[in-house]
Order: sequence, then C-alpha cells, then structure tokens
Amino acid sequence: MLYQRSSALFDEAYQYIPGGVNSPVRAFKSVGGVPIFMKSAKGAYMTDADDNTYIDYINSWGPAILGHTHPEVLEAIQKQAESGFSFGTPTELETEIAKLIVKNVPNIDQIRMVSSGTEACMSAIRLARGFTGRDKIIKFEGCYHGHSDSFLIKAGSGAATFGNPNSPGVTAGTAKDTLLARYNDAEQVADLFRHNPGEIAAIIVEPVAGNMGCVLPENNFLQNLRKLCDENGALLIFDEVMTGFRLAFGGAQEVFNVKADLVTYGKVIGGGLPVGAFAGRNEIMDHLAPKGGVYQAGTLSGNPLAMRAGLTTLELIRKDENLYQNLNKTAETLDFEIGKILNSKNIEHRINRKGSMMSIFFHVNAVSNFEEAANANHSLFNNFFHHLLANGIYLPPSGFETWFISAAIKENEIDRTLEVIRKFEYS
Ligand code: PMP
Repeated sequence: MLYQRSSALFDEAYQYIPGGVNSPVRAFKSVGGVPIFMKSAKGAYMTDADDNTYIDYINSWGPAILGHTHPEVLEAIQKQAESGFSFGTPTELETEIAKLIVKNVPNIDQIRMVSSGTEACMSAIRLARGFTGRDKIIKFEGCYHGHSDSFLIKAGSGAATFGNPNSPGVTAGTAKDTLLARYNDAEQVADLFRHNPGEIAAIIVEPVAGNMGCVLPENNFLQNLRKLCDENGALLIFDEVMTGFRLAFGGAQEVFNVKADLVTYGKVIGGGLPVGAFAGRNEIMDHLAPKGGVYQAGTLSGNPLAMRAGLTTLELIRKDENLYQNLNKTAETLDFEIGKILNSKNIEHRINRKGSMMSIFFHVNAVSNFEEAANANHSLFNNFFHHLLANGIYLPPSGFETWFISAAIKENEIDRTLEVIRKFEYS
C-alpha cells in the first residue's frame, strides 16, 4: 500500500500540532512508521487519505459499537443540527437520555453529562472526596482514567506505551494522594486500607481493564473491592468509559453483578460525539452543585448534537435484542480462530477477551496485571500490527490497547482478517 498523502499530511501536521497528533497513541510512535490519516469511515471500514481501505478493530477507541456512521445516527445528528448546535440552557433531550440510562442501568439514580471520559473520572473523584471528606484514592497500575493529574501515576494507555506512566507536571502534592495497587491483587488493597485508616475516599477501577491491553478481573477481584470499600467507608468507582454499554447495556455492574457507588462513562454513550458522564445514587449525586457543594460544570455539557448522537445510539442498542450476543459471537470466533492460526505457527500467545473487548499478548501464557502485560513481546506485536495494517486490517497501534469489535464486522470481514493472519510470518 502507498501512504504518500498520509506521510505528507503527517509532515505538515508535525509543524503545527505537538507530535503531529491531538492524542499521543495515534502517532504510531511505539509501533513505528507514519500514522495513517483517515478521511472517511462507514460500517466496518475506514478509508485513508491515499484511498486505502481498512477493516477497523479500533472503532474510534470504542464509541462506534454499531460500526461507523450508522445511517440512523447520521440522520438524527443532521436533523438536530438544523435546530441549533448549542444553547447553554437545559433541553428536554438531556432528560430523555438521562432517563433512558437511569432506568436501564442497575444501581444509579442520577447522571451528570460532561464532554470526555477524563472529565467524568476527574469529577467522580472530586465528588467521592467531597462526599467522604477524605483525600486519598486507590488506583491500579496500568489502569487509565484519563489525563487528569491524580490519574497519571503508573497510568496505562499512551502513558504506558511511551514509557512515561508518571507524567512530568504532576506535582508531588497531588501524587501523594494516589495510592497504587496491582490489578487483581485485593490483598494489596487491603494493606493500603490498613496503612491509611480513615483516609481513603475511593477506589477507582476499570472493571475490565482495557488500557494495558485487555485484562480481566480474576478471583472475585471486583467483589473483594466492594467488600473492602464497605468495610472501610470508601466509595467504589467503576470506570466504565470502555465497558459501559459495551459489555451489556448495564455495563460491568450488570455483567459481574457488583454494585459500584459511582460509575463513569464515555465512548459508546456519545455515539462518536464528545460525551462523558458520571452517575450514582441520590445520596451521593445530591452533593453536586447546584444542589450540593461539590462544584462541577461545563459550557458544552449536554450539548444537543452530542446528546442526540448518544441517545440515538443507545436507543438502537436497546432495540436490537441480539446485539451483545452477536458482538460476543464475532469476538469469540476471532479469538478462537486467531488462536488456532497462531498455535499452528507455534507462536506462543495469550488472547484476553471479555465480550467484544480483546487483545493479544505474545510470548506470555497469562496476563492478569500490568507487569505481566509489560513482559509480553511488544516488538512481536508491532510486527503483527504492521503485517495487518499493510493488508488492510486496522488494529490499535500498541500492545497496551484493546481491540473493540463493532456490529458491522460480519463473516466477510472475519474471513478476510483470518486470511491475512494466516500469512503472518514470524522471524
Ligand atoms: N477511562 C478509561 C477506562 C478510558 O479508556 C479512557 C480513554 N481511553 C478514559 C477514561 C478517558 O477518556 P477520554 O479520552 O474521553 O478523556
């Protein structure tokens, strides 16, 4: 494939945008090569600036669960745009989407809309601190909750990919309130509670981690976190920015049957437009301004275009009774068949998968925390990535990221993907 125009666009972007990109993992820095500049996307496919097409396994890092540019979502956005882009006032639409979510997600009474997953997680932490009157939080190595200061301590995603999980610019004062534990290690969490009695406001966790590759909770990890929070008067925050409306409409709370005190959302909730949200029970959410004292606000929060895209997407998800079953089946087939192909080539690997989130780790036999994810052979992943890319299959450009399967991926796309993987040569 030729990437002439992408290369030229990247050179130009590099002069005006830091690193040529508006979000670091897009830069292909860890896999090497020039990032591909896309110009359009529809269903399972994206088309780049050189007119190459790709089967997309990122789906905008999760939002495009129905595939790109779904016709009904497109029409809804177009219609909404004719009524205005942004009012800075309340609208009926905001109540409509809030009601749909609150009525169909377990254990939440109220939801506040923001414009990104970062904002959602940052605000949930402030609310947890305001509610409990405590300062410290616990997060897990390799989990990513957006780029707010308190979370950039051993963070996953791009922070892990580029080897700066502790970002310069985060003050020591902020960092000292973020306590770290190993994912899937509830014992370490218990220790942190023992050593910081009455000081921990909340645990924030990705119930299925997607920012160190895909890592599943094991040995009742989530149930144990719930128990530890109850015993210690701390709040349990599920960061469902990836898992919300993806693993099930009710997200990880529904799938694992564990109740969180606060839940954060992003990605699917906005149907491809910039939306995040955080939600919880009345007794906690009532502490938010203007009702309560914990301040949180946003000029474009509840933006009508974004709400319309989100509402239409969520309604389409609700209407399709078989959606999650079908997504699961697609991902299961990929998981099974890719495993078979790699085994036939004697390439040791581990595929971690929950529903339509999955990723491959090479040269390890199990991955249940960040250390194990980091020990995988990432240069082999990079070769695998480039082989697929050169053959029109678009994976996330890092072994520390998760693939997101969309409903637009059908038998043809699966067959094509497997055909390309069959030709992968490991040397
Ligand atoms: N939490 C999780 C689990 C995420 O995966 C992400 C982004 N990938 C965020 C929070 C931050 O969301 P955003 O990029 O929309 O700020």
